[in-house]
Amino acid sequence: MSSINLKKVVKFYGKTEVVHGIDLDIDHNEFVVLVGPSGCGKSTTLRMIAGLEEISDGEISIDDTIVNELPPRKRNISMVFQNYALYPHMSVRENLGFGLKIAKQPEAVVKQRVSEAADILGLSELMDRTPAELSGGQRQRVAMGRAIVRHPQAFLFDEPLSNLDAKLRVQMRTEIKKLHQKVATTVVYVTHDQVEAMTLADRIVVMKDGYIEQVGTPMQVFNHPKNTFVASFIGSPPMNQLPARIEGQTVVFDDGTKLPVPGHLADKVREGQQVIFGIRPDDMTPEGHGIQETGQSTILELKVDLAELLGTETLIYTSLAGQEIQGKMFDPRDVSPGEVLKFRVSLDKAHLFDAATQQSVSVG
Ligand code: ADP
Repeated sequence: MSSINLKKVVKFYGKTEVVHGIDLDIDHNEFVVLVGPSGCGKSTTLRMIAGLEEISDGEISIDDTIVNELPPRKRNISMVFQNYALYPHMSVRENLGFGLKIAKQPEAVVKQRVSEAADILGLSELMDRTPAELSGGQRQRVAMGRAIVRHPQAFLFDEPLSNLDAKLRVQMRTEIKKLHQKVATTVVYVTHDQVEAMTLADRIVVMKDGYIEQVGTPMQVFNHPKNTFVASFIGSPPMNQLPARIEGQTVVFDDGTKLPVPGHLADKVREGQQVIFGIRPDDMTPEGHGIQETGQSTILELKVDLAELLGTETLIYTSLAGQEIQGKMFDPRDVSPGEVLKFRVSLDKAHLFDAATQQSVSVG
């Protein structure tokens, strides 16, 4: 139940600066997910919070106490790693209680905390098994249980699900979410998977190359990405992004195709501005196969290059101004390559980014 604050935190490995003075305020009981491509500095940031890496400059505080010099065990936070390394010769019960025993907690406390964690995680029936007798998901739960028994002020998760197969990953994701609802505590969670970030987070921190690109609720970063990087990283399939130029009230693409400037962005652009026009595949739907066709929209006739059937929807690959883009057909029918479809482009959902800065013209 701690707040965690990072002030201008810098990390050098040797002479290489990998985290460039980041600021971040995490509230009590907040579930914050650090997300970004491999190498962007997520794990380093998490490890600095845990005290496993020294910080090169700046300040980290937990509950208003600066912890820069405090060793990990004094920070009262628990870390759950991707590689959950349980003790193979110990039972689940012993694995859960081991850390507390080492910390010389009285036996009654160990027993009570272990049984409480087992209850929370649904491990009570498995207490006498060894890790070899557990499924991957059950082992992951024991690893989380080891963190829970310490009653930490905050949990830090470093890609905890990336060793699990796809189905189990989804299941464990739900369990972690439920766990956070049961055990009100601060969580900082690192992943490269934007779906995990969207589904778990109260707030998402999108990182790139050692910088924070945007902090916001899942809805904010999805609906109002600050720049082209966030726009393409959050959301799957990624947002279509096409270079264009503003001419009067129109967006003109490189091949001369024109669309009206979206009404909500009309006063955010200037004549002649080079822009990137962004539209998510969900907001480009063949007529009669969209989910919402109420706001400002326009029609583009485009030829289908490829259709991917996904069940309740079909992903349609087409191209505009020489660039591949994707649309989505909901309530789908069979579609063949070469077919020309009338796509309704929901302009009220469209984005514009300045081509030079790659920053949104409307999100500050
Ligand atoms: P992420 O968790 O986002 O994949 P990391 O925080 O692990 O990224 O790494 C950030 C950058 O720091 C990367 O360029 C990585 O190569 C570098 N790095 C990480 N750990 C070390 C280390 N111990 N020594 C030198 N460079 C490192």
